[in-house]
Amino acid sequence: MPRYDYRCKACGDTFELTRPMADSSAPATCPSGHEDTVKLLSTVAMTGGAPVPRPSGGGGGGCCGGGCCG
Ligand SMILES: [Zn+2]
Repeated sequence: MPRYDYRCKACGDTFELTRPMADSSAPATCPSGHEDTVKLLSTVAMTGGAPVPRPSGGGGGGCCGGGCCG
């Protein structure tokens, strides 16, 4: 059963609930009894990070870097 993270906007506390996926969007009540909570994304998609460096020319070795082909 998946686990979801919630944050209470009333007391600012974060808590976890293990509930069926069908109930993931159902209202969750914080341990302190507040009902003003929001669901957090537990699996954050790491997008927009640093691009993966890839060697591109510049004499990084290999045949064309040593002059054997030109
Ligand atoms: Zn609360």
